[in-house]
Amino acid sequence: MEVVDVAVIGGGPAGSSAAREAAERGLSVLIFDHAHPRRKACGGGLPVKGIEWMDAPDSSIEAHMSSISFTYKNKKLKIPVKKGKLIRRDDWDFYLYNRAKEAGAGHVIERVKSLDLVSDVWTINDNYKAKYIIGADGVNGFTRKFFMERIPREHLFAAAGYYLGVKPDEYDVEFIVGAIPGEEGYLWVFPKSDHYNIGYCYNSGTPGMKEALDDLLKERWPGEFARNGKWKLEETGELVDCKKFGSVIPSYNDPKLFDEPVSGENWVLCGDAAGHVNPIHGEGLNHAALGGRLAAKAVSKGDPTLFEKYWRSHYSRDMYRASSTKHKIYRSIFMRIGFALGQTPALFGMLAQLTRGEYEGKATRNFWFKLPLAILQAMFMMKHKELKNLT
Ligand SMILES: Cc1cc2nc3c(=O)[nH]c(=O)nc-3n(C[C@H](O)[C@H](O)[C@H](O)COP(=O)(O)OP(=O)(O)OC[C@H]3O[C@@H](n4cnc5c(N)ncnc54)[C@H](O)[C@@H]3O)c2cc1C
Repeated sequence: MEVVDVAVIGGGPAGSSAAREAAERGLSVLIFDHAHPRRKACGGGLPVKGIEWMDAPDSSIEAHMSSISFTYKNKKLKIPVKKGKLIRRDDWDFYLYNRAKEAGAGHVIERVKSLDLVSDVWTINDNYKAKYIIGADGVNGFTRKFFMERIPREHLFAAAGYYLGVKPDEYDVEFIVGAIPGEEGYLWVFPKSDHYNIGYCYNSGTPGMKEALDDLLKERWPGEFARNGKWKLEETGELVDCKKFGSVIPSYNDPKLFDEPVSGENWVLCGDAAGHVNPIHGEGLNHAALGGRLAAKAVSKGDPTLFEKYWRSHYSRDMYRASSTKHKIYRSIFMRIGFALGQTPALFGMLAQLTRGEYEGKATRNFWFKLPLAILQAMFMMKHKELKNLT
């Protein structure tokens, strides 16, 4: 039986990116995925931060964002963006998977159920052999449980929503915070080419998540649920699609979880399997795409544990910082103060640059420097000129 250099388990953004990188580096590669092509439950917003890490040409894009908005009660901070992209997970994932195949990776249409290591060679499903394993089969998939512990529920977001068959008239990507007071998470409204993708993302087990989303649905598109995944619009009586989706996302509530190595002598995990998702907002596509490539680079050097050094130098700072600030950011008091200050002429520009991933200065130092003026402006309810026409 042929022994390939690397078996990549899971063909999502992390696995396909890893397989392509490994093949381009001259390794023989097999991707295992029983479900391709498939539409993974997802908002499909490519994070603006790290957009250059993701291979997403215009042909694979469903819509371009015109702005990103943060809404809290009656306050809205709307930030024009140029780089944001929205994808459909079946199309984009299939594009990435085909790029891996074009680079030379083979595909085994099987769910991986067993791994055995004998004399430094892995046997997969009793039938295939490989020197290295790249585990990219998602949150709490087979490889996460095989090589590490599963991610505990208290370190997961629950995320679910609807594909709502109403055509958007504007490409504003909206995050709504404070819908469930004091709870950590948000609702989202993502406009796609021919529908809205709306959903919730809260710490797993948060009460009232579905109700908060359904309230938003009723408020924005008045109507009621009809049978077979349809929504009946009150004004026209039209039945539009309202299909449910949902899953969980890693969201480490304790930065120490990032200390734990996600690689060993002949294996490495990446993407959701490694827990590499921003704990504040649950965006993981950027880290899946880059993490997959870095995992393959480590394997190509004959030492998967090099991945620890690679991912830490590229994106660990954001992960650690997000994990330790998550609990502060979602507090009601922080929201109130944050939105009052964020809309002032003194701070809105900085917030906009941070959202666009363009901020190059020392954000914390500059924030403290601008804070006194921002407080003064907030007391006089002054708003940045870009926000004056918004309610
Ligand atoms: C509802 C929701 C909304 C989200 N919205 C966003 C968003 O807007 N922006 C963003 O950046 N992130 C978002 N995320 C997070 C994002 O979806 C993940 O971070 C990303 O999909 C991780 O990619 P991955 O390749 O690691 O895993 P996955 O995309 O989960 O891919 C894993 C692959 O492994 C395969 N697999 C599973 N088990 C096995 C097995 N035993 N053998 C072989 N194959 C297997 C699966 O079929 C799948 O193809 C969202 C997540 C959810 C749940």
